Amino acid sequence: MKKFKRVLVANRGEIAIRVFRACNELGIRTVAIYSNEDKTSLFRTKADESYLIGKNKGPVEAYLSIDEIISLAQKKAVDAIHPGYGFLSENPEFARKCKEAGIVFIGPDYTVIEKMGDKIQSKIVAREANVPTIPGVEKPIATEEEAKEFANYCGYPVIVKAAAGGGGRGMRIVHKESDLIPSYYSAKNEAKKAFGIDDIFIEKYLEKPKHIEVQVLGDQYGNMVHLYERDCSIQRRHQKIIEFTPSITITQEKRKEICNDAIKIAKAVGYSNAGTVEFLVDKYGNHYFIEMNPRIQVEHTVTEMVTGIDIVQSQILIAEGYPLDSQEVDIKSQEAVEVNGYAIQCRVTTEDPANQFAPDTGRIDVYRSGSGFGIRLDGGNGFTGAVISPYYDSLLVKVCSWSRTFEDAIRKSIRSVKELKVSGVKTNSAFLINVLNHEAFLKGECHTDFIAENPSLFD
Ligand code: ADP
Repeated sequence: MKKFKRVLVANRGEIAIRVFRACNELGIRTVAIYSNEDKTSLFRTKADESYLIGKNKGPVEAYLSIDEIISLAQKKAVDAIHPGYGFLSENPEFARKCKEAGIVFIGPDYTVIEKMGDKIQSKIVAREANVPTIPGVEKPIATEEEAKEFANYCGYPVIVKAAAGGGGRGMRIVHKESDLIPSYYSAKNEAKKAFGIDDIFIEKYLEKPKHIEVQVLGDQYGNMVHLYERDCSIQRRHQKIIEFTPSITITQEKRKEICNDAIKIAKAVGYSNAGTVEFLVDKYGNHYFIEMNPRIQVEHTVTEMVTGIDIVQSQILIAEGYPLDSQEVDIKSQEAVEVNGYAIQCRVTTEDPANQFAPDTGRIDVYRSGSGFGIRLDGGNGFTGAVISPYYDSLLVKVCSWSRTFEDAIRKSIRSVKELKVSGVKTNSAFLINVLNHEAFLKGECHTDFIAENPSLFD
C-alpha cells in the first residue's frame, strides 16, 4: 500500500473539482494545472495548489502536454495523477510515461488502455471472451473494394467507424452502397484529424437500440465487481445527454447477463481500476458489446447515487494498492453491491437548442442553482461572473436527482432544472425539460434515435 500525499489532476472543469473533492475527503493534498484560458476558472481555486501549463500552447494543447505535466508532477513531489475524462485519459503513452517517471497513473495499466482504446482490438477481446459483438469485420479497411465487400457482408444499413473513435466522432451511418465510399473517406478524415489514427472498420447498424453500459471496478489483485448498469440512450448525434440507472425496461435476467458479460471482458484484459463496458441492446432484447472506456465517465454520478459507492475515491484507493474487500474500499463482494432507488443525470450545457445546439459563450450575469433533497450538482463554471469560453466542452453543470421511484426522480430533475436560472449565456435547459416530460422517457422506452425522431423536443 502506498498512501498518496499529493495528487495532480490532469484535467479541468467539473471533473477536476470532482477529483479534488474525493482527494480532500481522503486527506490528500491536491494539485491543479490550468491553461492561459483557464486563469479565472473555478476549478483552480478548488485545489490546494495550481500551476500554469502550456504557456505558449493553445487552450486544448496545454492539457495535452504530456512531458510538461509529468515534469511538473515530479517537481512538486506528486505521488499520482488522475486524468479525469477526455484529454489524456485514454492516452497509453501518458500512462506509460507516468509509470516510468515513478508516478502512479490512476487508471488501468497502459497496455490495457492501448488494447481497449482500439475498437477493433476490443471487439476481438469480447468475442474471444464469448460475449456477443455486433456482426461486422474485425480488421481495418484497406481499399475501397474491401469497404464494399465488408458492407455487403454485414448487409445495409452499416456503420463505418474509426477504431480510435470517441465522443461520437469518426462514425457514419450508411444506408446504401452509393453513399459508402464518401462516408468511408469522411470518417477517415475526421478520425485522422481528431485522433491521429485513421483505421476504419465496418459493422451492422442496429436500428433503434438502447445504449446500456456497465460500471466495473477491479483491484490490482484480479478481483472485480460491477456496479450495475446505466441507460444512456438519450443521445444527440451519438453523444449522451441524459443518463439514468437502473434501466427500467430490461428484465432482471438480461441485467444479470449484461453485467456478467462486462465482468468477463474486464477480466479477459486483466482490467484494474474503474472502467465502463458499453453495450447496445436491440429491439429484440439482444445485447452486443460495442466498446470499453478505460477511465471515469461523466455519468458515473448516477451509479454513485444508487450504490452509495464513491467511484472516484475507490479509484484512488485501488491505485494506492488496496484490494476491493479492504476496509478502505469496502466492497466485500458482488452481493454486497446494492442498488437503492433511481438516479437520473441531466447534462446542462451552454448550447442553444434553437440554433442547432451551437455552443454559446460569454459572461454569466446570473446563476442560481436548484439544489434540495435528492439533488446533486457537479459543475465547473456555474457562478455569477463566470466567463464561458469557446475553447472547451460546453458542459455547465450535471444535475443529478435521486429518489425511491423513477417517476419521482424525474419530477425532481424537472424541478431542479427549472429552478436553475442562468442569464448571459444560453443553455439547453428547456430542451432537457421537454425530454424529461415526454411519455416515452417516463416509460423507459427511449432508444438512441429518440431525439432525432422527435423534433417537437426542440420547441
Ligand atoms: P464513441 O466512442 O464515439 O462514443 P461508441 O462506439 O461508444 O462511440 O458509440 C456511440 C453511440 O453510437 C452508441 O451509443 C450508439 O448510439 C451509436 N452506435 C455505435 N455503433 C452502433 C451500431 N453498430 N449500431 C447502431 N448505433 C451505433
